[in-house]
Amino acid sequence: MSTEKASEPKVGVSGRKIVYDKDGKPCRTCNSLTDFQFATTGIKPAKAAAKKPVKDAYKDIPPDVEVIGKSSWTLLHSIAATYPETPDNKQQLDLKQFLKLFGNFYPCWYCGDDFKEYLGKNEPKVDTQDAFGRWLCDAHNEVNVKLGKPKFDCNLWKQRWKDGWEEKSL
Ligand SMILES: Cc1cc2nc3c(=O)[nH]c(=O)nc-3n(C[C@H](O)[C@H](O)[C@H](O)COP(=O)(O)OP(=O)(O)OC[C@H]3O[C@@H](n4cnc5c(N)ncnc54)[C@H](O)[C@@H]3O)c2cc1C
Repeated sequence: MSTEKASEPKVGVSGRKIVYDKDGKPCRTCNSLTDFQFATTGIKPAKAAAKKPVKDAYKDIPPDVEVIGKSSWTLLHSIAATYPETPDNKQQLDLKQFLKLFGNFYPCWYCGDDFKEYLGKNEPKVDTQDAFGRWLCDAHNEVNVKLGKPKFDCNLWKQRWKDGWEEKSL
């Protein structure tokens, strides 16, 4: 690994442009992890991670309920992680509307129906980022329980989806 400190590099190790947030910090959810690490620490991975050649990546098969589920939770929790700490009224209304539409169009119809039923019984908490992150964690736990999976500790939602794990949590 090279430890040469890069100050606000324009291009990442992937060759793609580094995207910065409005506060000038590298955007965690807009860059690949290696590009983000490069922009924040200046560290370049010894070798680029082995990637599927593009022509093989295009041969991936249509997603099943598990792949759709994991990708969808990733999207939803990442939305929570980037939702404003103190959203204005429009942002709160938009998020509620988004969740309803998300349930309407969810590709696994019975999953979407159950999610909408959960929404009906549990009004989404959208007044702060943390309130939404915890509400979403509870919604995800409802599905975990339905599928016989362990519940996730919702006190840790921000470490899992925003800040990264603290040493004592590992
Ligand atoms: C709205 C919705 C409804 C679904 N309903 C069904 C259904 O009815 N039947 C069905 O078979 N599948 C359903 N799924 C898919 C299912 O929830 C899983 O996504 C899928 O089984 C793959 O599970 P996984 O073990 O890979 O981890 P996932 O459950 O997809 O979780 C991904 C990661 O999220 C983290 N995580 C786990 N729980 C939480 C939590 N509570 N809060 C925050 N982070 C957490 C963990 O790090 C985990 O590795 C649904 C998905 C969605 C988005």
